[in-house]
Amino acid sequence: MKNENYEQFASDNYSGICPEVLESLLKANQGSSPAYGNDIYTQQASDKIREIFECDCEVFFVFNGTAANALSLASMSQSYHSVICHELAHIETDECGAPEFASNGAKLLLASGENGKLNPSSIEELATKRTDIHYPKPKIISITQANELGVTYSIKEIEAIRKVANKHSLRIHMDGARFANALVSLGCTPAEMTWKSGVDVLSLGGTKNGMAFGEAVVFFDKDLSEDFEYRVKQAGQLASKMRFITSQWLGLLKNDVWLKNARHANSMAKYFATRLEEVDGVNLLCPVDANEVFLKLKPEVEVALKKQGWIFYAFIGISHRFVFSWDSTKERIDALIEDIKSIEI
Ligand SMILES: *Cc1c(COP(=O)(O)O)cnc(C)c1O
Repeated sequence: MKNENYEQFASDNYSGICPEVLESLLKANQGSSPAYGNDIYTQQASDKIREIFECDCEVFFVFNGTAANALSLASMSQSYHSVICHELAHIETDECGAPEFASNGAKLLLASGENGKLNPSSIEELATKRTDIHYPKPKIISITQANELGVTYSIKEIEAIRKVANKHSLRIHMDGARFANALVSLGCTPAEMTWKSGVDVLSLGGTKNGMAFGEAVVFFDKDLSEDFEYRVKQAGQLASKMRFITSQWLGLLKNDVWLKNARHANSMAKYFATRLEEVDGVNLLCPVDANEVFLKLKPEVEVALKKQGWIFYAFIGISHRFVFSWDSTKERIDALIEDIKSIEI
């Protein structure tokens, strides 16, 4: 399909590189630079992340979110430990067992919970279900912010999870593939949404926000980051031309481009959700906190829209997902709404 006509709401990783990031890549492409992260861009990107999070955290850069999650969970656990997460968590449903693989066998313990969110009681239930030697010992709670259903945890909710975590000596990992979307939605600071409310390690997403590729792992508990660079290298995640990951971060974080991109994506999702009110019989399945809209279309509508070239995901029989990114436009959303309206059922 031709690029200029690519009418997609499938995912925020279908979108291209945002202009500011592309510009920073071009700048970094002048001349040579030391390899494996010993370059000025990597230093500056790490410092910028420390500045943004207002703390002396340890920062590492990897190619993708699966690696960020799997390697950080591995660094927080032993092979006989377990990770409490929601049954819809990306680490469970979309990483091909990478967290278990990277940790040499740590088991994911799945909890249910409204709107894709863990809650203190579901965590408590799993954390106390078994205390004998025959069951992997719970060690980590992993929450996704914004989560797989485009819903955010409030600061209060994260703090409540921290309380249960403290009670059972559990660490907290945050999957922040859509961290910026959650951040602008809550209107808080990066520090408030992480270490100030009890998060130990964060997978910080860059790709879906406007980079070509690249995620960061941020350790607020520095002890957990011991030898992490070896994990990254062994997993094949150490970029030799690291500056092309880290210069992208500079382009994204400078002048709050990452927040601008997230705000735009979120506002497009809100706009779509609002315009859907004009369509009879279409109901939103969960709150639109970030850049994703989940709804249920009749099978005939789904087929008709796909025939017209619209691209979005259907989750078998349950829902249809529309995702918005830094380059989504009102015009395309309007056209989509008109097409939905014009389908006679
Ligand atoms: C996209 C995404 C990731 C990262 O996936 P990769 O394809 O490995 O980059 C991680 N967590 C969530 C919730 C995601 O949506």
